[in-house]
Amino acid sequence: MRELFGQYQLLLTILIFVPFEQIFAARPQKILRRGLLTDMAFLFLNGWLVLVGVTAVLAVATLINQSIMPSAVKPAIGDIPYVVQVLIAILIGDLGVYWTHRVLHAVPAMWHIHAVHHAIEDLDWLAAVHQHPLDLTFMKAGSLFPLVAFGFSTEAVGAYLAIYYWQSWLTHANVRVSYGPLRHVLVSPEFHHWHHSSELEARDKNFAGLFSFYDVLFGSIHLPKGRKPKTFGVDHPMPSGYPALLAYPFKVWASKQKRDDPSAPRRSEVA
Ligand SMILES: [Zn+2]
Ligand SMILES: [Zn+2]
Repeated sequence: MRELFGQYQLLLTILIFVPFEQIFAARPQKILRRGLLTDMAFLFLNGWLVLVGVTAVLAVATLINQSIMPSAVKPAIGDIPYVVQVLIAILIGDLGVYWTHRVLHAVPAMWHIHAVHHAIEDLDWLAAVHQHPLDLTFMKAGSLFPLVAFGFSTEAVGAYLAIYYWQSWLTHANVRVSYGPLRHVLVSPEFHHWHHSSELEARDKNFAGLFSFYDVLFGSIHLPKGRKPKTFGVDHPMPSGYPALLAYPFKVWASKQKRDDPSAPRRSEVA
C-alpha cells in the first residue's frame, strides 16, 4: 500500500497522464480544474484510512486460508505457473470489483458511500482518487479477500494490484482512445466515463474495472457507438471539500435514522 502512494510512482503518474490528457483530450479541460485541491487531499490522506480497513480484511482472509481452506488448495494454486496465476488473480479480482461495485450502487445505504466518487463533475486521471475510504475498503475487500483466502502468491496479488493501479488512472483520464472490437472485452476510458455520466440512460451501468465482458455477461453494459457522455455527476446535492465528503454518508445515515425514529418530533409539531 505504501508503494501505491510512493512519491516516485506519483511523479511518474503525473509525468505520464498530464501530457497524455493534453494530447488526446476527450473534452477541453484545464489542468488546474475545480476540485483539484480536494482531490489532492484524497490522494495524500485516504491511504492511511484505507490501510486500517484493508489490513483487517486481509487478516481475516489469511485466517480463513490457514484454518478453513482445504489443505490441498494452497499447493494446487502455488503449482500454477506465475503468469497464469496472475491472469486468474485478475479475473477473480475483477469479478469481485464488479459485484462489490454493483452492490454499492444497488443498496441505498451503500450508495451514500459510493456517491462521493460519483460527485466529481470534471473527470480526469486524478478523479480516480476521489473515493470515500469506506468505498475503497469495500472495493479492495471484494477483490483481495478471495485472492488471499484461496492462497494466491503475494507476487500474483501484487501484480494484480499494480495493473489495477495504472488502470484506475487510465479509465478516469480525460482521453479519447479507441479500443476497437476490444471495447467489449477490456474496460476503456470511454467505458468508465459512461459509468460516471449523469445521463439517465447510463445510470447503474459499466461496473467492471478491467474486463468489460463482465458487464456484457451480467447485462449491465452501456457503450453506445459514436457517442460520448455529456455531463458527469449525480442528480442530488453533494458537499464539496474533503472533510465534508468524508462526513457525507454518516450525515445521510444519521438524518435518515432521525426521520425513521417514531419518538422524533414531526415537521408539523416543530413548526
Ligand atoms: Zn460507481
Ligand atoms: Zn470512477
